[in-house]
Amino acid sequence: MLGPGSGSAALPLPATGRCSRSAALSRAHAAKGECDPDPSAKLAAKRLGPSLPAVTPPLTGPARLPLSRQMPQDRDEIAIVGGGPAGLAAAEVLGEAGRAVTVYERMPSVARKLLIAGRGGLNITHSEARSDFLARYHPPGYLDAAVAAFPPEALRDWCADLGEPTFVGSSGRVFPRSFKASPLLRGWLARLDRLGVRIRTQHRLTALGAVLRFETPDGSREVRPRATLLALGGASWPRLGSDGRWVPLLEGLGVAVAPLRPANVGFAVAWSDLFRQRFAGAPLKRIALACDGATVRGEAVITQDGLEGGAVYALSRILREAIAARGSAELVLDLRPDLTRDALARRLSGARPGDSVATRLRKAVGLPPVAAGLLREAAGAALPADPGALAGLIKAAPLTLIAPAPIERAISTAGGVRLDALDGRSMLRTHPGLFLAGEMLDWEAPTGGYLLQGSIAGGRAAAAGMLDWLAETVG
Ligand SMILES: Cc1cc2nc3c(=O)[nH]c(=O)nc-3n(C[C@H](O)[C@H](O)[C@H](O)COP(=O)(O)OP(=O)(O)OC[C@H]3O[C@@H](n4cnc5c(N)ncnc54)[C@H](O)[C@@H]3O)c2cc1C
Repeated sequence: MLGPGSGSAALPLPATGRCSRSAALSRAHAAKGECDPDPSAKLAAKRLGPSLPAVTPPLTGPARLPLSRQMPQDRDEIAIVGGGPAGLAAAEVLGEAGRAVTVYERMPSVARKLLIAGRGGLNITHSEARSDFLARYHPPGYLDAAVAAFPPEALRDWCADLGEPTFVGSSGRVFPRSFKASPLLRGWLARLDRLGVRIRTQHRLTALGAVLRFETPDGSREVRPRATLLALGGASWPRLGSDGRWVPLLEGLGVAVAPLRPANVGFAVAWSDLFRQRFAGAPLKRIALACDGATVRGEAVITQDGLEGGAVYALSRILREAIAARGSAELVLDLRPDLTRDALARRLSGARPGDSVATRLRKAVGLPPVAAGLLREAAGAALPADPGALAGLIKAAPLTLIAPAPIERAISTAGGVRLDALDGRSMLRTHPGLFLAGEMLDWEAPTGGYLLQGSIAGGRAAAAGMLDWLAETVG
């Protein structure tokens, strides 16, 4: 009989639920639509809704657990809690080392966020030079060793070994050839199954200490593993499983956690009603955005509430920090980054005198109607008729951003367990045997494949750290 975790959908997965190691397959749904960090896909993703209502009981906190007598304890296993990319990557390394590994996952199937990422093509890593690549992570340095041990080339080889060769897109981003996550995940889970990794779904960690307690559809279950690795993710898109409700568990152990905040996220702008009605959904292509000395080229999308899209996400840490410090952030848009102000002014001077400003912008400079509207929003008044002044506004249109979108709508999460709580093996300094990996830690990165590379490399590194520790302590 299949216990919790059996289900039906499109993706064959190794059987989950109660103690099943068999190769029986369950399936996970992959809904239609696009969900990539790029603006158009993100908009489509939003149509799916930012979150689902909570269907699981709230976490109870770590304090004093009455040991349940209803279900047996397994003292011989390594427990990985969280079946996302970080947890599965750790399970693979530990399984390859011959350890008895069980992955506990609260949802009916694992890696739902990976599957959602696959709807936008699964940008799994990036091909840029290593120093540029590492510079994307914040804080700098934390993931260097993990990425050195499992760099983008190794990740690409790993994908190919799982039957999903990758290619480099025109932006340098790396994608699996199928442009999907499901074949990769299918191959990965089959490999884990061969390694004897057990996956128990619908196991929600509700208490953490020497004993782990899980809520399952069959009641409470407690295990006392030799070592535990938590890879519980952040708090964005909570309907996919990572809801950040682990924070009180870790804080209850005395572990410092930086507040979870939205990363790779859109921002609110107080648009006029007219602009919102006319232009919500309009793309801004080939623009440059700047804030506090940082500049990014790319694309953005006007939304009902503000602005989102790849270029905005890339600046989201700086914008978020500016809003936290000053109450708002000034984002400066360059709508024609390939032309100088003088070149723009010359083109605008040559326009027909009778043309409206919007027509001059379109004919002389090639800007769409949304750009004229945006410049009006930025100027807060009628656009200047003087070509030099108008050119200056096109090159530096200031917008005031007032708040990041809620974390439920963010691509990823900033904040998390503070990095100085961990030793060099990804183990909590205060809790020997308890390891952490992935997005639940206090690092962040822009979209572009850095998040999955960081989570997978970090999960592998934490597993290697655990193997080290096990060899040293329990053999
Ligand atoms: C729409 C979208 C598109 C994305 N696209 C990309 C992309 O193209 N490229 C890229 O690099 N990154 C992308 N990301 C980000 C990437 O998916 C994440 O950074 C990555 O999945 C983090 O891995 P993780 O294992 O740390 O956490 P998660 O993938 O969040 O996994 C954590 C797991 O822990 C489980 N869990 C949580 N709490 C409990 C509990 N109490 N008990 C048991 N289990 C629990 C969750 O259910 C979840 O399965 C995207 C994210 C989103 C939302």
